[in-house]
Formats: sequence, structure tokens, C-alpha cells
Amino acid sequence: MKFDLVLKNARLVDHAGEQFGAVAIKDGRIAAIGDAAAFDDAVRTVDVGGKVVMPGVIDPHCHLGVNYGYDDDMRTETAAAARGGVTTILLFIRNMDGSYIPFYKDRRERGESNAVVDFGFHFGIQREEHVGEIAEIARVTGVQSFKCHMGYEPGNPIGIVSSTDSWIFGAMREAAKLPNGVVSVHCENTELVQLLKKDMVATGRQDLAAYTESRPVFVEEEAIARMIRFSEITGCPLYIVHTTAAKGPVMASEARARGVDVTVETCPHYLTRTAYDPDLTATAKISPPLRDREQLEGLWEGVLGGGVGTLGTDHVPFEKNGGDLWKEKPGVVSFPWELSLMLHFGVHERGMSLSRLVELNSYNPAKRFGLYPQKGALAVGSDADLVVVDLDEERVVEHDGKGTCLYEGWNLRGWPVMTVSRGEVVFDAAQEAVVPYGRGRCVTVPESERAMVSL
Ligand SMILES: [Zn+2]
Repeated sequence: MKFDLVLKNARLVDHAGEQFGAVAIKDGRIAAIGDAAAFDDAVRTVDVGGKVVMPGVIDPHCHLGVNYGYDDDMRTETAAAARGGVTTILLFIRNMDGSYIPFYKDRRERGESNAVVDFGFHFGIQREEHVGEIAEIARVTGVQSFKCHMGYEPGNPIGIVSSTDSWIFGAMREAAKLPNGVVSVHCENTELVQLLKKDMVATGRQDLAAYTESRPVFVEEEAIARMIRFSEITGCPLYIVHTTAAKGPVMASEARARGVDVTVETCPHYLTRTAYDPDLTATAKISPPLRDREQLEGLWEGVLGGGVGTLGTDHVPFEKNGGDLWKEKPGVVSFPWELSLMLHFGVHERGMSLSRLVELNSYNPAKRFGLYPQKGALAVGSDADLVVVDLDEERVVEHDGKGTCLYEGWNLRGWPVMTVSRGEVVFDAAQEAVVPYGRGRCVTVPESERAMVSL
């Protein structure tokens, strides 16, 4: 067989271990793994010189088309994702106006016309009708993942509607009936956040830590405990997004031990930044907030020990107002640096294994959201979504795109140097290639389409 692309002389790493050799790609899929000598008949062979090759990052958490246009974000931000070794992104997306069924068709078509890498959707529950629509959404669109927000008061700067407990419980009851149903929850007690914010606003403080202290970690811990209980009662898998509380992974591990299907996600900024870092201002406002050193180190224990299941960037490009802390839009961008941050602070500084990194970044997100083994695997038959990593390259973070970067000027060790999406090179650090917009494909598809791509 003549292969399309062979990456040889590679440290091939997946969630289970590693081997040295080559990976051969044909028609967008991994066709063979093993000794390069057997794969010399290829259109293109790249000698990666002993570098690491692993499954591309599946970023399960981002928001595009919130501040800037959706089509524009799907171009610029998926190109940024490709540079960061990300081959699939899952958007938490909201429709304020009505049914998700026409919305899915529209966002999928516009995504496939613009995106550089593959993408899929989780749908936000923003009105009671959305709960009743879950079964139909799953049948018609294939989307089986739903998000409930908390902690956003009426009139918040980005117009998110917080879920009532009855919406969350109702969504869980519906999603529990689906084969890959899952409900994600932004865990912060909405009523307590409103009460405590009033007290803090009255002090007149405008520093970043004032925002953090207006939503103390216990409001998140309390909500996590309650959502675990909802999950236990309904039998619906629970995905706790952007966890900042060190107790989050501990509570989730305890729940898992008694059979509750709960996954904790955290984000690179909660592992690398605190609200007390002197260089940060109100523009580093994120929801939920950056915390302190104690929570940060506690989260690392969860990352290294297994309590944390996935990493998501919560990438969202916002134009910040740079003014009033309470009116500032919460969110930062991270696609291009998530992998480097984890290599630098996880693998190099804390001794995390590369397999554990693949588990957090690719294998677990793929399994949680029903994409495995099409995605998240370095195996024959899987999509050839791969990232080549130079563990020792040192480079300074520079950001010239949209949104707020919290790492400008940081010297990080470990960078993606090539990204392959379904067999196509979509980023190569060694050459300035034309960015292939409009080749990304939607991965959350109805069952009728899924049959064609299943292994
Ligand atoms: Zn988010």
C-alpha cells in the first residue's frame, strides 16, 4: 500500500504507554504503526528525529462567536488551535432564541466552511424549552452533551442565563436516557454569588482579587457537592467544567468510588496563575475566578493523582473594556499554549508522564464525549489526528491574536512543532504554510452519519 504520509523515527506516545517507530497514514486514518522500514512507500515521509508524536489535543471546552463573529472566530481561533497541537475543539455554545435544531444546522455549516480543525458542540440550557427538546436534539443532531450555567446574575456582561435547579435536574433526567448523554455544570451557587458580590462592590475595590473574594471557593464546593448528588439520583453522567477548587477532584473521586459517573475538568490558568499575581489586572477576570496558591497546588495534586479527568482551555476571545472590574467580560484565550504550559509545568517541573498528559488531553475527553476511538487514540483505524512535540524547545509566548493571553513573555519549554488533522498537515513550525480554512469537520453528528465514520 502506498501511504499518504509517514512520520518516522518517533517516540509514539498514547494514554497507555509508548513505543519507538513510525506511524503511517492513508485516507486520513492511521493505517499502520511500527517499523519505518516497512513503510517506505509513501507520498511524503517526515523524519521527526526522535521527537514525541501523540494524539492531537481534544479541547473539550471553548466558546467561539461570543464577542466576535462566529465565522471569523472559527477561522482565526481554529488556526490558533492547530498551532497549539489541538485537532478537535468542542464548543459550549448557546442559542438564546429558540430551538437548537435549526441552530445546529447553521453553526455546523458555517463551521465546516471556515474551521481548520474538527469541532463539535455542547448545547447550553438557556430556557426551559431546551430541557424538553433534549431527546429530539440528540436524535436529529447527534449532540448529547448539555451545559447548565450557574453564578451569572441577571444583567451579567455576557448575557448568560443561569439554570435553576429544576432545569439542571430536568436536563439530567433527560440526558440520562441517551447512550452518551452528559450534563456539564458550571458550579457556583448563583444566589450566594449575588449576595456576596453586593458586599464586595460596596467596598469600592477594583483589584482582581476583589472579584475572586466576592466568589469564594466554598460557593463552588457547595455547588459541586449538590451536583454530584443530582448526578447520583438521576444516573446522569456529570461533567464539572473549569474546576478551580482543590476539593473538587477529591469530592469527585469519592463519588466515583461509590459508582457516580463524574468527571472533573480544570483549565491551564487555574494551574499556573493566581488572583494575587502582581502583574494581573481586571482584564484577567475569568469565570470562575483565578484563586490562590493553595488551590493551585491542590489542583495539581488532582491532575497528577487522577482526580482531575480532563483539561479544557475555556478559550474565549473577548475585547476587554479595561475599566470597571464588575463590568469586565470574563475569559481568556489559551489554544496556542495549553500544551506547552502542561509540558513545562506538568511534565518538566512536576514529573508528569507523557501518557498521563495524553490521557488528560485526548483519551479522556474523547471517551467522555463519545468520540473514542475515532479520536483520542494512536491506533490503526483511528483518525490521523497527531501532534509532533519538541520536548526541549524553549520559546517565549507572544500573542498577537484576539483575546487576553495570561502568559505573554513567559519562556516555556516544550512546544508542538507539527499538527496533523485527519492526515493533513495543518501546522508546521518549519514552514509558513497556507492555512487550510474550511476543512474542519463537525464531529457531533447524527447516528445515521456516524455509522459511516465508525471503525
Ligand atoms: Zn466556559
